[in-house]
Amino acid sequence: MRPVIICANWKMNTTPADAGPLAADIARATDVAGITRIICPPFTNISAVSEAVAGTGVLVGAQNVHAEAKGAYTGEISADMLKGLVSWCIIGHSERRRDQFESDELVGRKVVRLVEAGISPMMCCGEQLEEREAGTAVATVQAQVKASLETVLAAGKGLPEDLVIAYEPVWAIGTGKTATGADAAEMAEAIRATIAELAGAEYAASVPVLYGGSVTADSFGEFIDEPSIDGALIGGAGLKPDQMAGIAATAAEAAAARAR
Ligand code: PEP
Repeated sequence: MRPVIICANWKMNTTPADAGPLAADIARATDVAGITRIICPPFTNISAVSEAVAGTGVLVGAQNVHAEAKGAYTGEISADMLKGLVSWCIIGHSERRRDQFESDELVGRKVVRLVEAGISPMMCCGEQLEEREAGTAVATVQAQVKASLETVLAAGKGLPEDLVIAYEPVWAIGTGKTATGADAAEMAEAIRATIAELAGAEYAASVPVLYGGSVTADSFGEFIDEPSIDGALIGGAGLKPDQMAGIAATAAEAAAARAR
């Protein structure tokens, strides 16, 4: 059975001084059974968050990693640097694809680096509004996932057992608009169909697919009610303990229902 996962992406928010108290508040607010909780603070606040959530069961993730193992890449962070500090890492977020021009192939190389370091990859994908309106959303996202995972397979070690996909329609991120639960579920199934072509149906069925895009405590139920959706990647609401409390409570209900 796939885990139910809620993951807060703090983006470029919080400071070393306020990250710890916020993480502790979120850990308390989301203290429910049966789900996986992850907080992804900025690199500089990973230590503060790790200390604050120690013993709570909340896991800590990074928001990015470099595609090379080491070398002359000023200002960058390698997977080895994150080893021991985080158990998860978001890669291929649409904000990085937009601002740092990250390609599907680059995202695949990042997965390889994370696997080498023993860090679980949370790989983002999602279509632009024009692609949704043109009816090409499914083909676009399938092509993204295929290109990234083919790069992973080319490294020769198969696909990681702990891979998670976050489906985030770009037009829904930070806009207050969300996909419908039905559209997100259709996409999750299409993503798993692509993964099945590459690595078999059994593996594909084991990969959690999260929805992301303006998820709140009010909207989350529509997504987690879909059996093919396994949780959420949460931006804005991930900085609000009361919102995270509502999301966690709904996630816990879903996890309990799925276990029955
Ligand atoms: C995100 O950061 O991945 C995200 C989905 O942000 P928001 O929830 O604010 O749309």
